[in-house]
Amino acid sequence: MIIIKTPEEIAIMREAGLIVAKVLELIEKRVKPGVTGVQIDRFAERFIRSAGASPAFKGYRGFPASICFSINEGVVHGIPSAKRLKEGDIVSVDVGVEYKGYYADAAATFAAGEIDEEARRLMETTKTCLEAGIAQARVGNYLGDIGSAIQSVAESAGFSVVRDLVGHGIGRAMHEDPQIPNYGRPKRGPRLEPGMVLAIEPMINAGVAEVTTLDDHWTVLTADGGLSAHFEHSVALTERTPLVLTSV
Ligand code: MG
Repeated sequence: MIIIKTPEEIAIMREAGLIVAKVLELIEKRVKPGVTGVQIDRFAERFIRSAGASPAFKGYRGFPASICFSINEGVVHGIPSAKRLKEGDIVSVDVGVEYKGYYADAAATFAAGEIDEEARRLMETTKTCLEAGIAQARVGNYLGDIGSAIQSVAESAGFSVVRDLVGHGIGRAMHEDPQIPNYGRPKRGPRLEPGMVLAIEPMINAGVAEVTTLDDHWTVLTADGGLSAHFEHSVALTERTPLVLTSV
């Protein structure tokens, strides 16, 4: 069941979203060769707690850290480690917070130093996928319009859409209905209504769409070892335009 939020709830979720937006903005400045995921994770946890929120991922089904930190062929759910980023790495950072009983969730892929052309194009395309998905998150459209727009941008650029992982509704729980695939057909699925809040999160691979999960039961990697990128925003549907809760 898709839970409709009141304007008052969306206002709280916007506050939660701003905390996520700010922490991601500060993380982007810290991502550079030599830095470790553990360092970024510590910074993020301190920032989130000092803002009066708590890191939603920490302890979620036993996840050991406050952020997900997925390097190069890492798709999502990477556990921050003591491994140092190298020049040319890309890293997808996913941040979720809980604030006054509500959740906000966003992610972005950042470059460590100078990256090659394929990595740059993958990152830019994935960001464009997210923007195209958000542009379809309008009252009166259908859920399938979002996935269809994302898929079309990714595949026109020659990249693959991860099928095994999807976006989700968000609110008093981090994961609510509906599931939001990053592929699909226009005018299919539920009609979009005011008060829906959707975490739209294209995960786009340079090579094949298939992914594999490591024995740690978290780390999701591309099956072929190719690069992956991930951008996410939590978006509230209002009568007029989509309201991106997790941007500054
Ligand atoms: Mg999410």
